[in-house]
Amino acid sequence: MNKTIPYGRQSIDEQDIEAVVEVLRSDWLTTGPNVESFEGTIAGFVGAANAVAVSSGTAALHAAMYAIGIGPGDEVIVPPITFAATANAVVFQGGIPVFADVDEDTLLINPERIREKITLRTKAIIAVDYAGHPCDYDALRKIADEKGIVLVADACHALGAAYKGRMAGSLADLTVFSFHPVKHITTGEGGMVTTDNPDYVKRMRMFRNHCIDADFRQREEKGAWFYQMVDLGYNYRISDFQCALGMSQLKKLPEWIQRRQEIAAVYDRFFVEQKRVRSLQVNPNVKHAYHLYVVRVDDRDGVFKALRSNGIGVNVHYVPVHLHPYYKQKFRYGEGLCPVAEKVYGEIISLPMYQGLTEELQDICLQQLKALRRTLDGENEQYAK
Ligand SMILES: *Cc1c(COP(=O)(O)O)cnc(C)c1O
Repeated sequence: MNKTIPYGRQSIDEQDIEAVVEVLRSDWLTTGPNVESFEGTIAGFVGAANAVAVSSGTAALHAAMYAIGIGPGDEVIVPPITFAATANAVVFQGGIPVFADVDEDTLLINPERIREKITLRTKAIIAVDYAGHPCDYDALRKIADEKGIVLVADACHALGAAYKGRMAGSLADLTVFSFHPVKHITTGEGGMVTTDNPDYVKRMRMFRNHCIDADFRQREEKGAWFYQMVDLGYNYRISDFQCALGMSQLKKLPEWIQRRQEIAAVYDRFFVEQKRVRSLQVNPNVKHAYHLYVVRVDDRDGVFKALRSNGIGVNVHYVPVHLHPYYKQKFRYGEGLCPVAEKVYGEIISLPMYQGLTEELQDICLQQLKALRRTLDGENEQYAK
């Protein structure tokens, strides 16, 4: 057989399929009752007043940048160790993503580095809960309040995570989630922004529908055909059957996070013995949602090649965003901007981590890792060729 074990994948059961089919048989395929229900369910789950569902996590980031009024020349502070979409959303609105380096032990944005990057043009911070570990929101809140800037959380890795007992989704002014199949729960493609701010909600609901002002009273006055586009928006709508899938998936999330934590504990125990491997630090005041399980190894490229050629679908999250050719050319960014991220980038590898990874499958991963013991342990080095 020898099928590759991926680093992440979705779980879909018969309940999920039934939930989708039921909507396909109904009157609403898009923007129907399931969109609102999904928004309400997610808002309730994370403890936010409101949620706005959109067509992807990227659309959710873009909507958040629109909601807070990011425009040409505005600076938004982002970490370099994230998916490119975090920074791209700033550029979509004409803003400038300013990279603040990460903490070496957690790979989360470092509050000290944020302070150094704040200027009179800084409008917001986007904190990324890398791997599913919430950032230090007390420190971030303090900076945001002191400087009068907006705190946005990219919690695409962190649905179900918590910081000091508070859920991801209620820790920042706006929080973004993704429902791509590799994330905790999926709608195929999909995203959500949670917030307590009713003005942001109004702006994002318009933005996902071409910024068409749906003021019904105005329509009645001028005739039923009348509508106005008041700003430039997009079609970022999510369909009704996707939201039905999302609600069905969400029921299983607590159980799935528990399974992810068990898998992480098995890896943790294994790597304690390996002298040349560093697991990422987990702070005591968080509930880690383990979207990813990332370790640092000296010979990352060698380990990557060996595991890939033996059916373990390891990956690297992420190429530091400021090193992509687009960012080098457009903003004149490059090597040396974020030294910690650049160094750690050469060492990180993401191991298989998803709720469907059985004990047997994880065992196969561990067997392959054991075969690399010389590289990972450093003992018996004298015998290594
Ligand atoms: C997945 C992800 C996104 C983008 O979400 P999509 O739904 O794929 O558009 C943004 N930021 C981070 C950190 C992500 O992991």
